[in-house]
Amino acid sequence: MGTSKLDKRTLNFKLWSYFIAFASVIIVILWLLQIVFINSFYENMKMREIKKIGDQLLGQYNSEEFENQLVEKAFLEGISINILDETGRLIFPLDFFDIIRQPRLESNMFSELLTNLYKSDDRTTLYTRSDHRIEYPILTYGAILENEQGSNYFLYINTILDPIDSTVNVLQNQLVIITILSLFLAIGLSYIISRKLSNPIVKITDQAKNLMMGNYNIQFDKGYYTEIDNLAETLNKTAKELNKTEELRQDLMANMTHDLKTPLTLIKSYGEMIRDISGDDKVKRDYHVGIIIDETDRLTHFVDDMLDLSKVQSGLITLELNTIDLYQCAKKVLGRFEYFVEQENFDIKLIHSGNTTILGDESKVIQAIYNLIINGINYSNDYKEIEIKVEEKDEWVSISVKDRGEGIPDDEINLIWDRYYRGGKSHVRGKAGTGIGLSIVKSIVTALGGRCFVESEIGKGSTFTLQFKKSIS
Ligand code: ADP
Repeated sequence: MGTSKLDKRTLNFKLWSYFIAFASVIIVILWLLQIVFINSFYENMKMREIKKIGDQLLGQYNSEEFENQLVEKAFLEGISINILDETGRLIFPLDFFDIIRQPRLESNMFSELLTNLYKSDDRTTLYTRSDHRIEYPILTYGAILENEQGSNYFLYINTILDPIDSTVNVLQNQLVIITILSLFLAIGLSYIISRKLSNPIVKITDQAKNLMMGNYNIQFDKGYYTEIDNLAETLNKTAKELNKTEELRQDLMANMTHDLKTPLTLIKSYGEMIRDISGDDKVKRDYHVGIIIDETDRLTHFVDDMLDLSKVQSGLITLELNTIDLYQCAKKVLGRFEYFVEQENFDIKLIHSGNTTILGDESKVIQAIYNLIINGINYSNDYKEIEIKVEEKDEWVSISVKDRGEGIPDDEINLIWDRYYRGGKSHVRGKAGTGIGLSIVKSIVTALGGRCFVESEIGKGSTFTLQFKKSIS
């Protein structure tokens, strides 16, 4: 990530551009309202005001209050209000001398009023006019005050549209300041906010680099905002999982080296013994060769397990589904345990009840059963009894393998199905375990849509049960 060049994809840049855009829109709107349209706004406002006053006065004509209102409005609003008669003579306001002078409206102004009034639909008119004596335009309101006697009067209101240029100038100056300020604010705020938003991301990214380097003992920091907290939480869980896998991997390596090394050492030393010592002594030689064969079997078994696991792991197990009899499968497996029955005095019982056919892959099911029985044997001590029960139960056919061995501690019982998990001291005893037997069982049973359970009591033994859906045929 090059930071020297302007990176348009950074949070900082994005926020910055949004803020600038936002500020610009607001400023443009302000400029339009305050500077460009302000004169027409002002004019409109004045027009509405004067029309309102005119209309109000018009409504009060004929009331006793009318004259008072004329004086009051003119005074309060600072406008000029006149009443004219039909010839343009001033009727109101009149001072003492006016009675003699009889002033009248200039004829051009009066005819302008009349023209505008006759053009309008109602009895009122509103227009701007200019006067050579006054620099600014004048806003004029005119209305006909109808008399029952026949001769009409005119209401004639005038107000100067004072210039608001000075106000506009002030506003303009203010707007320049506001524009500059808001641009700076946009830059500053976007910088601060983007730092606030991106800092935790940058931090988490840095922490995540630890994961990349293989350091899984890392805690991702929380406490910024919810999204980041969720991310940190997820990463924490990931790190924990990775850590667990890493520990398992290390355990496996340790176990594997031990498991590989022990038989290899034995094979080598017994080979040497045959070469050097027992070569001619048939009894001794046979005994030594026997050990070599046992150890080779152990190695083969180990390698087979590893291969199975890698197949399961890479999803390479392909199932060949057929209708098979679980009881027959168990019987076939038992054939492979004759050695234990004959040589090691194991008592292996097989009982069954009901229709025990399922839809399954025979070789895989046999492998699963084999793994359970070999575990039963491996983890049996004095009571060398294994009971295998195949039975039909509701829509399930189940097979359970019960031993009277050492049992499984409660805190381990949920872990035993995990890959590479080996119970507490099992590898110390040098039993032929790789910690993957049960994970293979579980993968097979799950792939066939079945379920597996275990019940166990320390010192009394364990019962492993596999359940498969009954075959519908
Ligand atoms: P392993 O190769 O160690 O037997 P498994 O996956 O078959 O690996 O079993 C995992 C662990 O479960 C074993 O190490 C052992 O501690 C425990 N376990 C499995 N079967 C039994 C059993 N029948 N009795 C007692 N413990 C068992």
